[in-house]
Amino acid sequence: MIFHALFLLFLLRENNSIIKDIKSIGFEDYVRISLELKEKVDFNFSADKKTISILFSRKISPTKKIIQIKDIRKSKITTSTFQAELQKNKIEIKFKNNFSVARYFVIPFPYKIIIDVGFKEKEIEDFMKENERKPRIVIDAGHGGKDPGTIFAGMKEKDITLLVAKKLYEEMKKTGKFDVFLTRDKDVFLELEERSAIANALECDAFISIHVNSSKSQAKGFEIYYFSQKFSEYAFKIAQKENGVKMGKDESIVFSISSDFREDSSKKLAKTIAGHINKLNTVRRIEGAPFYVLAGTFCPSVLIELGFITNPEERKKLKDKNYISQLTEKIYIAIEEFINSYLYQNSYL
Ligand SMILES: [Zn+2]
Repeated sequence: MIFHALFLLFLLRENNSIIKDIKSIGFEDYVRISLELKEKVDFNFSADKKTISILFSRKISPTKKIIQIKDIRKSKITTSTFQAELQKNKIEIKFKNNFSVARYFVIPFPYKIIIDVGFKEKEIEDFMKENERKPRIVIDAGHGGKDPGTIFAGMKEKDITLLVAKKLYEEMKKTGKFDVFLTRDKDVFLELEERSAIANALECDAFISIHVNSSKSQAKGFEIYYFSQKFSEYAFKIAQKENGVKMGKDESIVFSISSDFREDSSKKLAKTIAGHINKLNTVRRIEGAPFYVLAGTFCPSVLIELGFITNPEERKKLKDKNYISQLTEKIYIAIEEFINSYLYQNSYL
């Protein structure tokens, strides 16, 4: 363990290397590898059974070396099953076992190549079995740990999102109709790509990320977002805030396979939720924007801004248990409606 940490430190300190960080998020049949570079470098990606090769357009490291990739979930599986070999203009990630799928997407700022590797060979029987399983819902409480989100009048976004996420989790679980999961159930920090990796590892059917809004004006109401590379000025600002970075408008996220299939179903999920929560408050916007937390999921995914912490009336509501419980009930009824009326009948999977 100490050896790995020292090795990583050595790697990070090496001035000539353009690699800032490389880490993995490991699960039983699925691993996400996140490679952060100091700046954008063009590359070619290829994958062959046990090896992933990334060939860069220029030198990324002065010397050849083996890197033990640090697993941020401390999963035993990943550290022992693969390693990265850094060459002058190439990275090769070699796995012990054959993988069945490898794809990637690129986040422009900070520049990250995020690689998803799946190890499960799916037989027809597996798909049949999957049709018999309960719908899987992953609820993501935005922010946490060192990242408080918006702070206003002594309230922290990370606390409100956790409270609402847990309530939604309990209510959905109680019905017995869903398998429900939380990305976090306490005050801990998670990377944005770790949240969507959890959803993917669980093969979720819907991913709901919970957030709270803020504004300099007295704005109020709900906003619901889905992932899109086409966006309004306003939605882009909200995405930047939630991504925690300033992005250029022309810097798009690049996917190795099209993510368009998800946009329609995510929009539909957003509209279904809006159709229920509008009984409690105005839904100001249903829009697409490049949210990092939604970029890496394989299932219909939305981000809900529950209201404005900066608006006194809404701040009061967000503290009110009765209101929270009405809100989570509306959200879960909407998810159920979406699952029943859209997901399975349209079987986009
Ligand atoms: Zn947020």
